[in-house]
Amino acid sequence: MRLVCRRILPKELNHELLWLGVSTAVLVAGAVFLGLGLPWLGCPFRAVTGYPCLTCGATRCAIAFFHGNLSLAWSWNPLAFLALCGVMLFDLYAVIVLLTRCPRLRVIEWTRAEKNVVRIAVVALIAVNWAYLVAHRAQY
Ligand SMILES: [Zn+2]
Repeated sequence: MRLVCRRILPKELNHELLWLGVSTAVLVAGAVFLGLGLPWLGCPFRAVTGYPCLTCGATRCAIAFFHGNLSLAWSWNPLAFLALCGVMLFDLYAVIVLLTRCPRLRVIEWTRAEKNVVRIAVVALIAVNWAYLVAHRAQY
């Protein structure tokens, strides 16, 4: 695995533009949804099992996050909090490279072992986060 910094290739997917657009659209849609006072969707998993799902608390985490209450955001869903931090960092990077036409960061030449390490780490993070949510389910 190598991290390289290079110009975008002809016909290469413009990840920065695509994912900046997606994250901005999701943010605007969420703000409009909440701004209109539309009813919150209940969690069907929690309704059936009584346990939080993997994403329970993510909406409340995002609301607290965008209101600057980071400790509350963390307490609602730590993994969603980390994801929001990652999205904010990526969006900042994307705006910079799109406006300045700087070379892009790309991770290339992943070995099978490296891919497996990342997969295991992601599954472990999700499992630990879910254990946290279940342990704190009284707040959901
Ligand atoms: Zn849920």
